[in-house]
Amino acid sequence: MVTAITGGSFGDEGKGKMTDLLAAQADIVVRFQGGANAGHTIINDYGKFVLHMLPSGVFHGHTENIIASGAAFDAEEFFGELEMLKKRGVSKPAVRVSSRAQLLLPVHKEQDILEERRLGKSGFGSTLSGIAPFYSDKYAKRNFQISELYSGGLSDKIKRFCEDKNIFFKAFYGVENVLSASALTEYLTEIRDRLKPYLVDCTYYVNSAVKAGKNILLEGQLGALRDVDNGIYPFVTSSSPLAGFGSVSAGIPPYEIGRTVAVIKAYSTCVGAGAFVGELFGSEADELRRRGGDSGEYGAKTGRPRRIAWFDCVAAKYGCMLQGAAEAALTMLDVLSFLDRIPVCVGYRINGAITDKFPETYMLDKAEPVYEYLDGWKSDISGIRDYDRLPEAAKKYVRFIEDRIGVPITMISNGPRREQIILADMRK
Ligand code: GDP
Repeated sequence: MVTAITGGSFGDEGKGKMTDLLAAQADIVVRFQGGANAGHTIINDYGKFVLHMLPSGVFHGHTENIIASGAAFDAEEFFGELEMLKKRGVSKPAVRVSSRAQLLLPVHKEQDILEERRLGKSGFGSTLSGIAPFYSDKYAKRNFQISELYSGGLSDKIKRFCEDKNIFFKAFYGVENVLSASALTEYLTEIRDRLKPYLVDCTYYVNSAVKAGKNILLEGQLGALRDVDNGIYPFVTSSSPLAGFGSVSAGIPPYEIGRTVAVIKAYSTCVGAGAFVGELFGSEADELRRRGGDSGEYGAKTGRPRRIAWFDCVAAKYGCMLQGAAEAALTMLDVLSFLDRIPVCVGYRINGAITDKFPETYMLDKAEPVYEYLDGWKSDISGIRDYDRLPEAAKKYVRFIEDRIGVPITMISNGPRREQIILADMRK
């Protein structure tokens, strides 16, 4: 059985926690897109971790973890995280890397930094991890697939790649000779030798595992609204965090994905630029930001304060639709416990008309949130494990969201730790 576990909104939904939790039943966790540009926070028996490159199943001894072909493979982050896990006593995580994944190089990060600086106020709020330059080079077909490192005939390609980068860096940023063929060759040779023991032909491996009836999790890295095609372009990531892309990246047929879970959080946050309907400012935002997540709403990758809004049914319904989610996991319900009443955005008012459809990006600037208000429950719910024990107002909040997004909520997370979970589909 293949399950996709994905983000239903703008990101930071708690996908890392949910993947770590569900990985207990998984044979394989496949990280299917992005690079080290986000952080998945996981709190379990080993302590607190923020994973950027490794799949979130690494804490389970019986689970294999694969970085799939569609990911942006950052070797420095990969080896750094493996080392960190070893130091912190996580016993020998089984990790493999698709030989068809491509390398995100240090020059991609340099390009990201210089480009964001060049753009100034019109920048995208990039995490400066090299993602946009990496995917640009990938789709321009000048990048390096890991398998190529073992082909023995790379010198012409390396030379051309350096020439391209040098011309580009000089013209755009006034930087001379950013990359030499000898330095890049040395770097690629080192990576080639270190990576060898981790490589796998992901496509055949995962297909055989599917045939053998293994439990496989496809792990998405960002929220649906950041999808390059269906999200808030251009304030998107440069790949697709949608379950559909999980099948492409792992190399398995789409119909093999039997279950898709969208993770949504009980209020909204986002990092980076672009319209964010209903964004809160001032003390209301500060209070939610301070109370949110495991230690406040600050980017797990960048440390930047996250932008805050109330739960947005329009965005989440659209996100769940994009993911093809048959169920949702609602996280951070505990964070709202201090509120007397809780606004929920149920529609957008655009040019005087109310809609529950998520519009194209240019219309978002005109959209004003339409709220309904629900009663708060004003009690600590973080220790509850049984749906029936939730206060009536909290159940009402869950049911309200479920009705509005049209997807059943099967799991409720009420704290950052692995064990803080309520299986809501057990409800009578
Ligand atoms: P991800 O990238 O989707 O995994 O999300 P992040 O790790 O960037 O951000 C999620 C934050 O929320 C982290 O600080 C988690 O520890 C925390 N978190 C996850 N689930 C819950 C929850 O149910 N309640 C609370 N209070 N925090 C949670």
